[in-house]
Amino acid sequence: MSTYIFGHTSPDSDSIIGAISLSYLKNQLGEDTIPTRQGEISAETEFILNKFGGKVPELKTSVAGEKVYLVDFSDKAQAPKDIMEATILGIVDHHKLGDLTTSTPLECWIRPIGCSNTVIKEMFDSYGVEIPKDLAGMMMCAILSDTVIFKSPTCTKVDTKAVKELAKIAGIEDYKKLAMDMFIVKSAVDGASARDLNTRDYKQFEMNGTKIGVNQLEMVDISVLEPRHDEILEDMKKMKEEEGLHTILVLLTDIMKEGSLLLCVSDDASKIEKAFDTKLENNKVWLDGVLSRKKQVIPFVQPQF
Ligand code: MG
Ligand code: MG
Ligand code: MG
Repeated sequence: MSTYIFGHTSPDSDSIIGAISLSYLKNQLGEDTIPTRQGEISAETEFILNKFGGKVPELKTSVAGEKVYLVDFSDKAQAPKDIMEATILGIVDHHKLGDLTTSTPLECWIRPIGCSNTVIKEMFDSYGVEIPKDLAGMMMCAILSDTVIFKSPTCTKVDTKAVKELAKIAGIEDYKKLAMDMFIVKSAVDGASARDLNTRDYKQFEMNGTKIGVNQLEMVDISVLEPRHDEILEDMKKMKEEEGLHTILVLLTDIMKEGSLLLCVSDDASKIEKAFDTKLENNKVWLDGVLSRKKQVIPFVQPQF
């Protein structure tokens, strides 16, 4: 029986490429694994897979009775609904430890670095397994995406070193140019509905029994969305009702200006104002220097609940 490897809901490039790279490594080590995904891939991920000839992992949203490895998350709210009926063999991640527990011992590779694919690169190195050229290119792109081309405060020396080594294997000289092309693809919003935008990189968290949703759009220029702020806020209100959330946040992250416009719909917005020591105006506030949800948003919101 095969073991399934997948990342979080609303999968980003790290979740998809991480499933592919970890599955390749595990299979080289003699296990029988299949990379899967919990949702549709993003335009950015499609760009990476096309560039390096990668295959879209199969969709799998139910895992009862299966053996699984998790990549890029350990929060129950980001797992398949029946995750507690699966056997979790391992977790490879770079987020805060979530609320998933297991009934059997597991393999854990969790490090406070910029990307799950950096952790997987270290696993390849520690097992002495060679990374194929195209896989190296995909892993490199995942790291450049998660670290926002090294600008994110989550980025470490381990990540920059991994990118340089992977670029060499992939035969790519100007990896920053490739990363910019990738972010331009990621920034496209033409034809996307407010719901498409609000679910593009959406994560749910349970904070002391309270449900919080946080979406992030990383763009090279967030001003193109200015005419759509009201429409985005209206849809956030709908999502908040539909999912029974206390608070929904949308971060419009400008990777060139290096900050995020925070949009907030909440039962008690004063908690969010307190978290960031700021005042919302028309449900919005600019947070200068904020690029990372996991390091600059969640750690400040969580203590308010
Ligand atoms: Mg991710
Ligand atoms: Mg990641
Ligand atoms: Mg991200």
